[in-house]
Amino acid sequence: MALSVLDLFSVGIGPSSSHTVGPMRAAKLFADGLEEDGVLASTTRVQAELFGSLGATGRGHGSDKAVVLGFKGLDPETVDTAAADDLVAAAALDAELWVGGTRRVDFNWDEDVVLHRRQALPAHPNGMTFRALDHAGDVLRERSYYSIGGGFVVDGDADAADRVVADSTVLPYPFTSADELLEMCEREGMTIPEVMLANERVWRTEAELREQLLGLWAVMRECVDNGCAAEGILPGGLKVKRRAPSLFRTLSADLEISDPLRAMEWVNLFALAVNEENAAGGRIVTAPTNGAAGIIPAVLHYYTKFVPGADDDGVVRFLLTAAAVGILFKLNASISGAEVGCQGEVGSACSMAAAGLCEVIGGTPAQVENAAEVGIEHNLGLTCDPVGGLVQIPCIERNAIASVKAINAARLALHGDGSHKVSLDKAIKTMRETGADMKSKYKETSRGGLAVNVIEC
Ligand code: SF4
Repeated sequence: MALSVLDLFSVGIGPSSSHTVGPMRAAKLFADGLEEDGVLASTTRVQAELFGSLGATGRGHGSDKAVVLGFKGLDPETVDTAAADDLVAAAALDAELWVGGTRRVDFNWDEDVVLHRRQALPAHPNGMTFRALDHAGDVLRERSYYSIGGGFVVDGDADAADRVVADSTVLPYPFTSADELLEMCEREGMTIPEVMLANERVWRTEAELREQLLGLWAVMRECVDNGCAAEGILPGGLKVKRRAPSLFRTLSADLEISDPLRAMEWVNLFALAVNEENAAGGRIVTAPTNGAAGIIPAVLHYYTKFVPGADDDGVVRFLLTAAAVGILFKLNASISGAEVGCQGEVGSACSMAAAGLCEVIGGTPAQVENAAEVGIEHNLGLTCDPVGGLVQIPCIERNAIASVKAINAARLALHGDGSHKVSLDKAIKTMRETGADMKSKYKETSRGGLAVNVIEC
């Protein structure tokens, strides 16, 4: 399967890539399919059932609302995040839904979007089944989908070959392991971002790619700005106060302070700002998931604010390098908290950010691989236990801590020559196996860990 940097980074809506972006895309796919199958005009009702982790934590993650928006034909890239909640509330209040934006059907919130807290579909913890009915209640179309992390959606009813919408493009420099990637860099005399760029040119020109990556960087910056400005309490009932605005004021008030750890506090701020925006359902760059969306922007902000000579070329190289590492996680393990716990989300993002930063501060390919390995090794075993099923505790603060860890990993690797005992491939394999051994209560079900030891109030 050929993966692009733009598969790893995409614009979406908070709070979760697997539980919000994925279900929204799946519901839109289903709604589009009604038109393609010629049954839209006969559809009088649509229904959704969410299973597994989606059923257990879907309310807190906004999965139910995302499905309604998807049925309406809206997609996560372009939906008006400020109006999304109102659109869903109007559908519930008016008891009507405009499927695909054109076909009016009756809608009953309680009966038509059902979350099964203790049932799962066979292929993946994030399963959902959608159904369209005619006026007699007969099923016109029924499909099951799986949201497999990072906003990726699999059609569970497609033929096996079509199940993942896999890109079979032949790349000039294919790699499926870090060892292969390093050998290629050595053999061809290329850096990791050069390998990625050569592969990306199969899909688009360098100028187009650069424009798209810098566009993503602009969304990340806007997200930080929004997070620094938005005061108040995050939605969902946990009464978590946004911390970014007051931290921003404190740091901005004294720019001359000589505290050597001041940069770290800025990094904390950048990550908090993004993840608070994510928790509030704001516009986010999925990187590579929403729960872990603060780490790459925070480390990129560190690069542009604190590394001398930082520029847009560096931002592009950072994102390409981070994506190369993200591809390795996606191919060989998982970036889904529901599959492997938080090590797959925050751990993967930390590793990707460490690699990106190491590249732009002068790391060789071997040092970049070393940085990525350090970034995941010290997140191995990290469980996913969001309190109240909300992407707030521990998620928001965890992104700040992992951002600082990524910077440390990059700088540590730069002091070595790239040789080290645990390879990135072995660390990724360990992550996959640790995730397989992890009990499901630690995999985005909110049935273990902090989720059961912290009282919701
Ligand atoms: S604990 Fe980690 S994996 Fe789980 S929702 Fe939060 S950020 Fe995502």
